[in-house]
Amino acid sequence: MTGSGSVAVICGGVGAARLLRGLARHVEPDQLIAIANVGDDMELHGLHISPDLDTIVYTVAEAVSAERGWGLEGESWQAMTMLGRYGGEDWFSLGDRDLGTHLYRTQRLREGASLADVTGAIARSWGIEFGLLPVTDDRLRTMVTTVDHGEITFQEYFVGHQHSVPVTSVRFDGADAARPAPGVLTALADAERIIVAPSNPVVSIDPVLAVPGVRDALRSRRDDVVAVSPIIGGKALKGPADRLLVELGREASATGVAEWYTDEVGTLVIDTVDAARAEAIASVGVRPVVAPTIMSEPGVLDQLCELLLSV
Ligand code: GDP
Ligand code: CA
Repeated sequence: MTGSGSVAVICGGVGAARLLRGLARHVEPDQLIAIANVGDDMELHGLHISPDLDTIVYTVAEAVSAERGWGLEGESWQAMTMLGRYGGEDWFSLGDRDLGTHLYRTQRLREGASLADVTGAIARSWGIEFGLLPVTDDRLRTMVTTVDHGEITFQEYFVGHQHSVPVTSVRFDGADAARPAPGVLTALADAERIIVAPSNPVVSIDPVLAVPGVRDALRSRRDDVVAVSPIIGGKALKGPADRLLVELGREASATGVAEWYTDEVGTLVIDTVDAARAEAIASVGVRPVVAPTIMSEPGVLDQLCELLLSV
């Protein structure tokens, strides 16, 4: 990529949020657009909860809990304690401050606002200047088929079972009928560079690609698409990405990620510990670029952003 063209980022939660915190320092806000997963969304207590959108907002605003990596710092849990008292549904932790976000989102949606509009209002209130779009305003839900519990929602799998149960398949309920949110396909067509964040390929990025038009947009721009491997040394830093890749017939490695993305991604940034895999990745037709990718390590995030904008 040369010059200062616009950048579109395909996003899940934590991995994407950390990358965006850096990209916001390297790309003019009106040239940066994040397109995020809504397959994790759920309705609970009558509220619409959008975990990946909120993780992005709270992280970029530097209001995220450093300890948990999700939710807000300085959080209290009195509403959850009250729910527990009544025997209510308290398996999915919602902090008191965080609940305000869900109350606001739910009310606006009920008044007829789109999820994209509400997300924009929430992001702006936290001082986020770049574009943040849910991939779709329509209902899309990641469903996970498990060996022991049949088909369950993503959050039942991820939080309820702490993603420790074997999975046989994943599908995206509603994806076929979902329309890309206004601006999503234009952003993908116009961007000089498309970045696939180091998010879970199976349950964070795939639901974004499942919205009609999005996967094709990446395929037609494959040479301009750069991904960062979320698998480092054969392991996810956190979460089930490594296990899910194996359960769905791939290898838990940067090579497995390259194979997963081979039709959509022209270049894959792999961590320095995986340098020996570069040849195998090139042989599946993806250009490997080796660099430090652990964004919490000093200096790595800015270097990685510069690399993503220049390779
Ligand atoms: P979630 O939606 O919050 O579960 O998070 P994502 O899907 O966005 O990200 C989870 C994935 O991000 C995991 O597979 C992690 O390995 C990966 N990840 C998180 N932080 C980093 C990082 O600093 N570097 C790389 N390469 N991957 C990361
Ligand atoms: Ca997520």
